[in-house]
Amino acid sequence: MGYKTIIGLEIHVELMTKTKIFCSCTNEFGGEANTHCCPVCLGLPGALPVLNKSVLEYGIRAGIAFNSKIATRTKMDRKNYFYVDLVKGFQISQDDIPLCDGGYVEIELEEGTKKIGLTRIHIEEDTGKSIHTEDGDSLLDYNRAGVPLIEIVTEPDMNTPEEAQLFLEKLRATLKYIEVSDCKMEEGSLRCDININVVDTETNKRTNITELKNLNSFRAAVKAMEYEEKRHIALLKEGKNTVKETRRWDEVENKTVVMREKGEVADYRYAVDADIPPIEIKEEWIEEIKKHLPELPHDKKERFIKEYDLPEYDAGVLTQSKDLALFYEETVKYANDPKQVSNWIMGDVLRRLNDEEIEVEDLKFGPKNLADLIGLIDDGKISNNIGKKVLREMFETGKKPEEIVKEKGLIQISDEGELKGIVEKVLSENEQSIIDYKNGKDRALGFLVGQVMKATRGKANPQMVNKMVTEMLNEK
Ligand SMILES: [Zn+2]
Repeated sequence: MGYKTIIGLEIHVELMTKTKIFCSCTNEFGGEANTHCCPVCLGLPGALPVLNKSVLEYGIRAGIAFNSKIATRTKMDRKNYFYVDLVKGFQISQDDIPLCDGGYVEIELEEGTKKIGLTRIHIEEDTGKSIHTEDGDSLLDYNRAGVPLIEIVTEPDMNTPEEAQLFLEKLRATLKYIEVSDCKMEEGSLRCDININVVDTETNKRTNITELKNLNSFRAAVKAMEYEEKRHIALLKEGKNTVKETRRWDEVENKTVVMREKGEVADYRYAVDADIPPIEIKEEWIEEIKKHLPELPHDKKERFIKEYDLPEYDAGVLTQSKDLALFYEETVKYANDPKQVSNWIMGDVLRRLNDEEIEVEDLKFGPKNLADLIGLIDDGKISNNIGKKVLREMFETGKKPEEIVKEKGLIQISDEGELKGIVEKVLSENEQSIIDYKNGKDRALGFLVGQVMKATRGKANPQMVNKMVTEMLNEK
């Protein structure tokens, strides 16, 4: 008996244009409540919207990056519904002619590349925000009203929570690459709704779709999908079905909880917004946008392989995010050893970023500092191991590597005379190890080298120590 999970996503992405979609109010995040507003985004009677051309451009950029067909003629429609954060009583969106039609995103699975189809990408305005206080009051902030959005709707092409996660990661990385959004989930500039259900592959019985909303991180999204997958399968096994409903993820209880049951499909009475003229998009403009589109992840990866002579794996990891790729290229400019820079970034730097769940832009040090650290190792001033220690300190304090080395007295001991004295002392204190070595126990050599390193608190030049200990042992 087998079950197949079916997952489709709807993603809302706030565009980082300077101004809102239909007025010249700032599109900056935050600000004192109700200060980024004007009669247009407040929907006061008689105020007329004027479409921001940049919103079209950003939407087209996304369409190009995701292989969609860009409409040459489109329009804006009114989606009617009542909610307090939507003062006009309708949202200006797109109904039957989206800006971008179709398209796909490729994700890398163990068994190969999988194409996740997109149904559409359309532009629309965001609504205001309700804030429910602990005292039971509801406050309204309309700063977000009229913030430009693209809504990306996928086909139900994902079959595991992992595939959905890979899709979301790729989508976010690409949107950041093409500079249409900062995709900060914690600030709501990327919001994701999930439709999920399960089919019994033998009987073809399927559960009703559950819609998951209010997911504030990819991690929460994955947990919610895994939870729902199990819940749907358990019900199918009992011969039961799910209720068509909207659920949210409860971080504390570690489960999904019902928000509301889904009744009939809402009739939004879509109608053309007569205040906004039909939109005509010329082929030349699309070509122009295509020409100036920033380098996409795949192209960057290929370039890294060629330009820096990196293995495909390295190039893939380094181009996962635009900021990481930029950090890499900047470091190489100063350090001039592409593979070594890659090793440091993929190793110690990424590990720390993942552990602390921070992004490369949150680092306290810059590419030049990392390059300087690599330089200190290359010049034999510090050992590789001390380098790792210095890097840890750079993470904490953001101090320059030379400064840390100086302050902590970490300069590598490469002075033969000085090292000789220490090696002699270690040997005289470890007679047994010398005998062991003479009897063919190679481990004794490692032990003695280790003792010398310990005596110098890791500052001795390891190659030199190795050589000297071997030589002196052989002389005995
Ligand atoms: Zn405004």
